[in-house]
Amino acid sequence: MIGILCAMREELEPVLEKVEVTEIIEYARNRFYKAKFQNKNLILAYSKIGKVNSATTATIMIEKFGAKKILFSGVAGAIDSDLKIGDLIIATKTTQHDVDLRVFGYEPGYIPESRVFFDCDKKLNDIAKKVANKMGIKLKEGIIASGDQFIHSKEKKEWIRKTFGASAIDMEGGAVGCVTWIFDVPFFMLRAISDTAEEGAGVDFDKFLEESSEVSAKFLIQMLKEINE
Ligand code: SAH
Repeated sequence: MIGILCAMREELEPVLEKVEVTEIIEYARNRFYKAKFQNKNLILAYSKIGKVNSATTATIMIEKFGAKKILFSGVAGAIDSDLKIGDLIIATKTTQHDVDLRVFGYEPGYIPESRVFFDCDKKLNDIAKKVANKMGIKLKEGIIASGDQFIHSKEKKEWIRKTFGASAIDMEGGAVGCVTWIFDVPFFMLRAISDTAEEGAGVDFDKFLEESSEVSAKFLIQMLKEINE
């Protein structure tokens, strides 16, 4: 079983269109779609925005539906200046930029007995790079930092870049990374850029959400062809 997770309805819809949905299950105030793609069994859902929602949905996919991998598809704000709207990025690792226990002497993002960075699966990232090569498209790799905030400030974005070495910003990656680390399940994080996370990012986000969601979904489907259950 492969879990495919998004945060928003707009991110999941273009994925759902490309698979064969076999069953819809209402559970935990959410809707889970069982589906087939080339004989592979999938469980799909959008979690709703943010770290708690995405962590909960990832946990349900693993514990209730038996997902052996979690693939995330969605949109993100750019930090690196070579990332333009519509460009794709995969995470090498994810982190939570809003975790702050510095007053106790811990580094930003660190929770005792947990970790600052959660690794994404190298094998899945290698498959993504191969697929991008075949498709002749640019695919960036970098750290994605998450927090329960929509970032639309140059200053905040610069702090996240400096502190975590992040290339892009979202609101779920660090949480799903933590869950998949806890359960030791391979995690793949794919995002298409929707905005620059600077002043005016909200307007860009609304404008490019659907287009960038489609870019991410299309790439994910190409990848699914190369992935075993
Ligand atoms: N306009 C939406 C809210 C979008 S929140 C609504 O009204 O419902 C932004 C979503 O896209 C989150 O799921 C997050 O993961 C991602 N994202 C894109 N750009 C972002 C940014 N600049 N900062 C934080 N998250 C961003």
